[in-house]
Amino acid sequence: MKIQTKLIKAVHTKQNPYSAITTPIFLASTYAQGEINKPGEFEYQRGKNPTTKAFEDSICAVFGASYAHATASGMGAITLALSLLKTGQKVLFCENIYGGTFRYAKKIMENIGIKYELRSDLESLESLSSDVGAIYIETPSNPLLNITDIKKIVALAHANNAIVIADNTFMPLFQSPLALGVDVELHSATKFIGGHGDALGGVVCTNDKALGAKIGSLKNTLGIALAPFDSYLMLRGLKTMKLRFDAQIANTKKILEFLKSHEAVQKLYFAGGASEHERAVHEAQAGGCLGAVLSFEMSEKYCYKRFASSLELFDIASSLGGVESLICHPATMSHASYGEQLRAKIGIKDNLLRLAIGCEDGEDLIADLAKAFAKAKKS
Ligand SMILES: *Cc1c(COP(=O)(O)O)cnc(C)c1O
Repeated sequence: MKIQTKLIKAVHTKQNPYSAITTPIFLASTYAQGEINKPGEFEYQRGKNPTTKAFEDSICAVFGASYAHATASGMGAITLALSLLKTGQKVLFCENIYGGTFRYAKKIMENIGIKYELRSDLESLESLSSDVGAIYIETPSNPLLNITDIKKIVALAHANNAIVIADNTFMPLFQSPLALGVDVELHSATKFIGGHGDALGGVVCTNDKALGAKIGSLKNTLGIALAPFDSYLMLRGLKTMKLRFDAQIANTKKILEFLKSHEAVQKLYFAGGASEHERAVHEAQAGGCLGAVLSFEMSEKYCYKRFASSLELFDIASSLGGVESLICHPATMSHASYGEQLRAKIGIKDNLLRLAIGCEDGEDLIADLAKAFAKAKKS
């Protein structure tokens, strides 16, 4: 089956109770055992729920995973994946990871003695010290859209007894970290999977049986399972994910061309745009997919605050991947947790804005941007 069919038909009607066309919302916190020590397939919602399982089965089909576990948010998925690490081990993060992941490292990992480093040179490392338990990557990264060579990182980690965790939220289609050898792939399902700005969710996937069992057990222990109603919304979102993503990419292409030639844009960041090397790597591992996020630094001749407030179709809000277009100011929003010094080191400037492009008409979005640029020009 091709991807668009899998998105809709991964859970077949026949698997649903009463052959319902959609998987119903199954509300039951606990399930009776036939006799003592004879549990059925479902025991307790924190571990497993029929609606959530239908979502997880669909995720397995779509992402080519053998095991998937749904969590209450993307941060839940990140917490779950990083719970595979032990005290004394170290995680190497690629630079400019999601702000919440960095906050997790600072607030949780430091407390429990798991070391971490943010590295901009992962691809050029020849070996890893023995305490490195995992390399954690996001490609394209957030908000600067830098590309990391997934295969290279996998080879490096596996030669050094470390696992690779990839946050693939930005490329839910066209790039499969698991197929490229990554051990654990995770997503904030809040973004492209749900797609309508109405529910939080996350997924953690793997093809490794032992890791799959461990992740399932940790999910049950942490108490971060996705709720049945949200599982239903995610299943519903998944069905149109490719239709939406294709429309978002088409809009993003048009907006990229518009921004390239506008004098208000001082520097533009897009997937594969940083260098010829990154372009080639992104072409090889993601078919060069542009995705639906762009960032840019605004010229000093323009006021970035006035620009953002002047937009009518882009709301100033965190998040991305939904049908509605959003604009975010990373320095005070998604990447506030980095602190000023680290932001300066990584290159997240105060005049950097991130656009999350939705499914509205592309020409309307461009007209809105043009109007706001005109209003934001300093006299
Ligand atoms: C939003 C996001 C997260 C966190 O997901 P939530 O569902 O908001 O908890 C993690 N990683 C990336 C890349 C994100 O964009």
